[in-house]
Amino acid sequence: MLMNMKELLAVANENYFAVPAFNISDYNMFNGIMEASEEKNSPVIIAIHPDELSHIEPEMVQGIRARIHKSPVPAVIHLDHGGSFEQVIAAIQAGFTSVMIDASTAPYEDNVATCQKVCEAAHAVNVSVEGELGTIGNIDSAEGGADILYTDPMQAKDFVERTGIDCLAIAIGTSHGIYPKDMKPELRIDVLDEIKKVVSAPLVLHGGSSNKDSEIAKSVEHGVNKINISSDIKAAYYKKMREVLADEGLREPNQIQPPCLEAMKEVAFQKIELFKADGKADLY
Ligand SMILES: [Zn+2]
Repeated sequence: MLMNMKELLAVANENYFAVPAFNISDYNMFNGIMEASEEKNSPVIIAIHPDELSHIEPEMVQGIRARIHKSPVPAVIHLDHGGSFEQVIAAIQAGFTSVMIDASTAPYEDNVATCQKVCEAAHAVNVSVEGELGTIGNIDSAEGGADILYTDPMQAKDFVERTGIDCLAIAIGTSHGIYPKDMKPELRIDVLDEIKKVVSAPLVLHGGSSNKDSEIAKSVEHGVNKINISSDIKAAYYKKMREVLADEGLREPNQIQPPCLEAMKEVAFQKIELFKADGKADLY
């Protein structure tokens, strides 16, 4: 069941659960995420970063759409961290049903203007838009700055009202990537509560990999509706692949990939349950 993010997150917002946004970089991983979501009867967001899109090629989005059309669970195809108006338009043309425009490192008024422009174009063709305010930390990827700038609640309210975005990525203490051992991330639930009081649009948490489960669960209880997971599922997939490839005689993808997918799906199951998304496909 293919839909846009606005439709998908409205139900999550009403029912206090979060939909996992899993980043996928090939069709095999995508299909594994769909199977995991179907087994848990969970709505799902297929997140594809521009770097991932250039890896899989935009033509594959048509295959992803076809797979989702035959699935009973609600799903969104979402551009993660769109970096420019042009990138967003290309994604819409490729078949995405939702786009993120990340102008959060630009001055505030520029971020507003960019989001307004993207919303005008995307909404005209029923594609939803995610914006970002504040700076989500960065461990090892190409997104955002290294230091966390917490989202200002009143600025968030102004931002959502003026831009018309359908959901907002907030910075409350998460970072992209896997945290080094000596780094102990702590989520500012108090900041989340302040934002939630004045912003009615669904809120998004990026960099959800390797945060403490108890903190993630708390952020869901306090109203986060979309949580991005990339590093955790990929780490499980490739850890298993290293083991499988110890058998040097193996060369067929249909022998090598299935056990890796099972390892990835185990992580996906755990996230779906942690976000309270299991069984929620029935609400659509
Ligand atoms: Zn992100």
